[in-house]
Amino acid sequence: MKNSLISLFAFFISLALIKEFQQLWMAKISLIEQVLYGLFFVIILLASYFNRSRLALSAGIFLLFYLNLSNMLPWGQSLFHDGKWLTLTVAAFLASLSVVKDRALLSIHGLYRLALLIIVVSACWYWLQVQTNILTVLTQYLWLKPWLKYLTLELPLLLSGIVLIFQIVRERSLVVTALLSSFVLWVGHYYQFIILPWSSLLTLMMLHYICVVLVDSYLFAYRDELTTIPSRRALNQLALSLGRKYTVAMLDIDHFKKFNDTYGHDIGDQVLKLVASKLAQVKGGGKAFRYGGEEFTIVFSGKTPEQALPLLEAVRQAVQDYEIVIRQPQRKTKKSRTGKKSTNVKTVSVTISIGFAARTSKLGFEQTLKLADQALYRAKKAGRNCVSE
Ligand code: GH3
Ligand code: MG
Ligand code: MG
Repeated sequence: MKNSLISLFAFFISLALIKEFQQLWMAKISLIEQVLYGLFFVIILLASYFNRSRLALSAGIFLLFYLNLSNMLPWGQSLFHDGKWLTLTVAAFLASLSVVKDRALLSIHGLYRLALLIIVVSACWYWLQVQTNILTVLTQYLWLKPWLKYLTLELPLLLSGIVLIFQIVRERSLVVTALLSSFVLWVGHYYQFIILPWSSLLTLMMLHYICVVLVDSYLFAYRDELTTIPSRRALNQLALSLGRKYTVAMLDIDHFKKFNDTYGHDIGDQVLKLVASKLAQVKGGGKAFRYGGEEFTIVFSGKTPEQALPLLEAVRQAVQDYEIVIRQPQRKTKKSRTGKKSTNVKTVSVTISIGFAARTSKLGFEQTLKLADQALYRAKKAGRNCVSE
């Protein structure tokens, strides 16, 4: 969510800057127009290669729009002369892209996406045909009258915007954020809130897409897939930038094998995820990583072991006190078959053992980590659910 907000903020700042310095770049507009084709080409290739097919498709649609605008399509501007239909179609397509998954384009999924586009195009066309009839019916309701003028275009646009915002909150993905910013440009330009040439707006849009693909791939590589906290690769990266003073802790869930055997691997995964989210809340500037399996690492940069101990003790306590609610879809029974979908809710809890060590002048990161691991072993020996140095 934080990344999405930063991304949106950066996007609108850039838009404001483009507006502010319009005089400067207007002189070079023909160059921008040339470069834009290159950008379209780069983003469609890049997004397809990195499996961000939704951005590739969106870029494809805007490329078509731009080619049409520049009279470079064989059918001229005639196909797109209906402003309402075009505005609605592109907005609805952006919203529907936010709902589907990023899948490889050169597969059956590519055909599904094409089908989606055709459905959206036809649905928008159909809507514009039937809305007159709907309007006639609704005119009978006097209280509705002042709102009816918004039915044709504004209502579907509003719905598309709501879908996009809802998807950002749900999926927390930069790709959907980029789709939303494109939507804002598209609608903003239609209502003339944003009065800038399309070549500059599309340049900004495509640069945003390129940034999203690159940043997203970076986050993808450094984030653990299951727990979504930083991965071991991120830990190794951090190790390169640590100063002279830091404390490292190794954390391991107690008897997790037995936990898996009792509750099953799926619930084990859920618990791992929730424990990781607790560890990520560590105070005092500690950074939590998934080291591997059910083992985690916390790094306190600039902290002595004395400073780290109470913070780790608090983490251990927080995990011990955490009543983890797990939901398990229940098999259909005679009773539930008629009723609502039933889920089996129960609470479980786990404990963790922690070992920690401080960097000393003779030790590198690897050795400090090893010391912490030895301390962890002692914590396990001491009966688990404790912190050891
Ligand atoms: P202790 O650490 O207290 O000595 O006992 P333990 O049972 O936790 O120790 P061990 O390291 O031998 O077992 C780790 C277990 O963690 C093995 C595996 O079943 C489980 N595990 C590791 N990674 C995952 C995972 O990604 N998902 C799930 N569900 N379980 C995992
Ligand atoms: Mg272990
Ligand atoms: Mg363990």
